Amino acid sequence: MITGKTLTEYARLVLKIGVNLQKGQGLEIICPVEKREVAHALAEEAYKVGAKIVQVRWHDEIIDKIKYTYADIDALTEVPKWYVDSKNYLVKNGFCYIAVAADDPAAFKDVPSEKIAAAAKARAKALKKFSDEVMSNGLRWCVVSVPTLAWAKQVFPDSKNPEEALSEAIEKTMRLDYPDPTSEWQKHIETLERRANFLNSARFEYLIFENSLGTNLKVGLADEHLWLSAKEIAKDGKYFVANMPTEEVFTAPHRLKVDGVLKSAMPLCENGQIIDGFTITFKKGKIVDFNAEKGYETLKHLIETDDGTMRLGEVALIGKNSPIAKSGILFYNTLFDENASCHLAIGKAYPTTVKNGDKLSPKELKEKGLNDSAEHVDFMIGTSDLSVIGIKKDGSKFVLFKDGEWAI
Ligand code: ZN
Ligand code: ZN
Repeated sequence: MITGKTLTEYARLVLKIGVNLQKGQGLEIICPVEKREVAHALAEEAYKVGAKIVQVRWHDEIIDKIKYTYADIDALTEVPKWYVDSKNYLVKNGFCYIAVAADDPAAFKDVPSEKIAAAAKARAKALKKFSDEVMSNGLRWCVVSVPTLAWAKQVFPDSKNPEEALSEAIEKTMRLDYPDPTSEWQKHIETLERRANFLNSARFEYLIFENSLGTNLKVGLADEHLWLSAKEIAKDGKYFVANMPTEEVFTAPHRLKVDGVLKSAMPLCENGQIIDGFTITFKKGKIVDFNAEKGYETLKHLIETDDGTMRLGEVALIGKNSPIAKSGILFYNTLFDENASCHLAIGKAYPTTVKNGDKLSPKELKEKGLNDSAEHVDFMIGTSDLSVIGIKKDGSKFVLFKDGEWAI
């Protein structure tokens, strides 16, 4: 269980490898109310390494559900200025932030999806400036997780102690079961970097994804794209790891060069609602058709958010032997599930996935092929028989993935 000594170790790991908190720096923690001991541990360890101030923003899904149920849509789409300012304040004042993501995947299953979509859209629009900063590494941030009971029950419905079971699974993905988790993370980061370096020197123009599920997709890569992995550099020159766990090597697709069909390989939880068994068809980068066995309305709202949610903003490669994939657990949480399978994201591309991207204007980024949007939502397409072929400008082909695993 992530308590006691393990929780202290967890907090230290997230502060050191995750946000790389520096002396004199402010820290914001977003944490579910029922997991207050996690915020306590993070705050205490942060002060011990010299944090200037630690502030906590409590997250309460039940309050959110009550709000979505009773408040009308006008009220739900009003984003107060103080809230937007409080987010921009973090960037202006050099804070880093840790988000503890532990949502109940079915939290809002009875709430009309129009309400949730409208609120999410208004929030994304109001926070565009902040999310642009986050995505171009204007501050150091890290998303981590701990089990909550409601979520654990969804993942382990038959377990006598679902929270304990989920806790154990998370500890493994965080490499907390090793005697020295920090040095394990450093080794892991190096392996991912080796693959990113290979892809960066290969300079593929297209990737072709194919499997028996029906995915047959040609994904053009952005001009001067860069493959990134766990360790990223913030604008202040300091390293950080934005997701813990992370197993991916990722870059930006070209917004105009995606053609073919993809089939989802795992369910996607979007704002407390589940989308499953979906198919999306692309033509010249744009979504021209889509369908879903479950959560069609939620998918429709997502795709119709803005111009950018009609296109892709990320392509990520993950082998089927990653510890998360091997666990065989469906977490119903993108932080874990995206690390079990090759994935794509609808919406904004990370400016850092092209050369000197953090210094380019929105117009220059667009010219390189980067997509822009108020949203960025990952979904999984990797299966155990997925093949990925890289094609260079001269037409030469290279097998990157065979049967769902790295071939390099
Ligand atoms: Zn990703
Ligand atoms: Zn993503």
